[in-house]
Amino acid sequence: MSFSTLGLSQPLLKAIQETGYTEPTPIQAQAIPLIIQKRDVLAAAQTGTGKTAGFTLPLLEVLSQSKPNMNKYQIRALVLTPTRELAIQVHESVKNYGKHLPYRTAVIYGGVGINPQLAAIRKGVDIVIATPGRLLDIAGQKGIDFSKLECLILDEADRMLDMGFINDIKRLMKLMPEKRQTLLFSATFSPEIKKLASSLLKEPALVEVARENSTGEQIAQVVHYVDKHRKRELLSQLIKTKKWEQVLVFTRTKHGANKLTKQLEESGIKAAAIHGNKSQGARTKALASFKAKEIQVLVATDIAARGIDIDQLPHVVNFELPNVPEDYVHRIGRTGRAGNVGEAVSLVCIDEFDLLANIEKLIKKEIKKVDIPAFAPDPNIKAEPIQKGRSQKSQSPQNKSRTRSNRPDKKENHESKERRRGNSRTPNSKRNRGERS
Ligand code: AMP
Repeated sequence: MSFSTLGLSQPLLKAIQETGYTEPTPIQAQAIPLIIQKRDVLAAAQTGTGKTAGFTLPLLEVLSQSKPNMNKYQIRALVLTPTRELAIQVHESVKNYGKHLPYRTAVIYGGVGINPQLAAIRKGVDIVIATPGRLLDIAGQKGIDFSKLECLILDEADRMLDMGFINDIKRLMKLMPEKRQTLLFSATFSPEIKKLASSLLKEPALVEVARENSTGEQIAQVVHYVDKHRKRELLSQLIKTKKWEQVLVFTRTKHGANKLTKQLEESGIKAAAIHGNKSQGARTKALASFKAKEIQVLVATDIAARGIDIDQLPHVVNFELPNVPEDYVHRIGRTGRAGNVGEAVSLVCIDEFDLLANIEKLIKKEIKKVDIPAFAPDPNIKAEPIQKGRSQKSQSPQNKSRTRSNRPDKKENHESKERRRGNSRTPNSKRNRGERS
């Protein structure tokens, strides 16, 4: 199939050609014609499937069919994203695909000064890409007008709910006209997402390109069993012997990310950490150095890594398994993107056996186990409690006895606390806005 059959006009086809895409991905082939017909769309697409172009291209097409607004504060289209990184990346895509069209765009997120963002909107923009908290602040200052909004897009909606943005989204929604086109993209189709969709979308067309919670077939997944205290050594060895040049490594906590980064640097591997305690400048710099291959390893926590888009990222390492099995799917979705082959390696210690079992249950397949004899786990080491994640509470009763496969998990990790804080904060609290990604 070719892009020219999807109903896109010449300026967009030219931009696609210049980007180097030869044919649409399945999500693009399905979603683009529906969006051009002005249908509401509910799309479940794994990350890396080309979903950004799947909504950006038809959005630009739809906007070219109506007139620009005269009032400078009135915007025509809004893309909401959970993190600043994703907002920046979607903005880059909008600018790239729309380069032969006259649209003005702005990107809005927390953690940086608000005045340049207010000034950008004052100049008049057609399309805004934003994280919900900061956008609400701007709306509160009457710095933006949604009354003529034609199209609203929620990207990575599942993660927006995870991060506690539901109230911000509801408040924003009250400022928007009933008559509009709404698109909702989500990696997973949870009952919460379906509920949100039913409140926002009108007779949506359903687009689903991958099985629920499946992991991409083009990703080779491997587990190495290793004792916790030897994980760092094994990781360094894998990076050096396999000559991995670009590795995204996941840790469970921000502290863990910092510690591992320092240790990798000490063993001569160029690394940087990216997490919620880092300034926006530090995060942007780390990501740019990683993309430019100036550093080999980017160590990230789940929330910070959400939205990282690097073409052909070959390796993802789970230095620690995530507490929430769905995060495994999101993590390894960073590799094997857009038809490229990727490798996802998980270093699993005895404490994490339950987490691994939950992941395999979710993805409905057993991950290949590969022994590395020099790192064979010590059979005398006993399982210890690990930090607890948000959705584990309901799965493991507090007072079960501590055994190898069933341990009480009392502590909660930093990022979960952070997410809970996000969930419980009042919609007006400015303090946390946009600081959580
Ligand atoms: P996304 O799922 O939007 O994050 O996209 C994942 C990656 O696929 C991005 O790096 C895009 O540049 C790339 N991509 C999107 N559409 C296509 C296409 N039709 N052909 C090849 N690569 C694509």
